[in-house]
Amino acid sequence: MPELPEVETVARDLQRWVAGATIRRAAVHWDRTIRRPQPPERFVSEIAGAVIRQVSRRAKTVLLHLDDGRVLTVALRMTGALIVADPGTPADPYARVVFELADGRELRYRDVRKFGRIGLWPGGGLRSVGAGRGARSRRVAESGRRYRIGEVFSGHGPEPLQRGFTAERLAERLSRRSAKLKTLLLDQSFIAGVGNIYADEALWHARLHPLRAADTLDARDVRRLHRSIRRVLREGIANRGSSFSDYVGADGQPGANAERLAVYRRTEQPCFRCGRPVRRIVVGQRSTHFCPRCQPEPVGSAAP
Ligand SMILES: [Zn+2]
Repeated sequence: MPELPEVETVARDLQRWVAGATIRRAAVHWDRTIRRPQPPERFVSEIAGAVIRQVSRRAKTVLLHLDDGRVLTVALRMTGALIVADPGTPADPYARVVFELADGRELRYRDVRKFGRIGLWPGGGLRSVGAGRGARSRRVAESGRRYRIGEVFSGHGPEPLQRGFTAERLAERLSRRSAKLKTLLLDQSFIAGVGNIYADEALWHARLHPLRAADTLDARDVRRLHRSIRRVLREGIANRGSSFSDYVGADGQPGANAERLAVYRRTEQPCFRCGRPVRRIVVGQRSTHFCPRCQPEPVGSAAP
């Protein structure tokens, strides 16, 4: 499932390749992919002629900002992918929505399992967008105006790569929670964009057990966790994301980060730090990978 680094990779690719492009028309091959407006025929008629101004990301959603202020949101969910296809590329049977661009290329929304959703929103309130260079240009901020696509993101926590996400802010948020660290990192209302892969990786780097209760961390623990979250996400972006099954960038190619992971899906293989076999447990129905020596079990926990 695409997490922050994978979605960011797609957004940056699209910023390079389709910013400035005009959507001549769209074809919807799976109605339920369209979240709004309804019915899908209305989506098709409203998107025709739209010009893509800029592409960015919020949480695990790709945002295509249109010239007229509207915003197209693409939530990739389990198996969604946005792929730019050159003219003459064979049709893709898994393309649920195809945006035909005026220059002859196609922007294809491919989704084998069909969980992803696309919405077209009035926009408003979004500024300082873009997936370009530097943290500042990546920031998605809300102005004083009403945030009309906010419905999509109202429940989301802070963006971990934004400058405002400081160790102090993380400490303050953790101190109010007694949930297990792994559970909390997966909670999109606590922190946006982190999923199973990067949660396990961040906890290994921070030497924190996945079952540690959030409010038991001291200031040094929190600083290590803060640094580790940002590190694994940045490395994931630099390597164009982690591909295990369906994830590809907008070039249709898998990312290179999976082979660089420290613990995720490395059960029984030696820890890169201490050599002990990586263990797998299940936390909240999610596979969780950690090193039993580097990430000591919390005192008094019922950890297996
Ligand atoms: Zn270890």
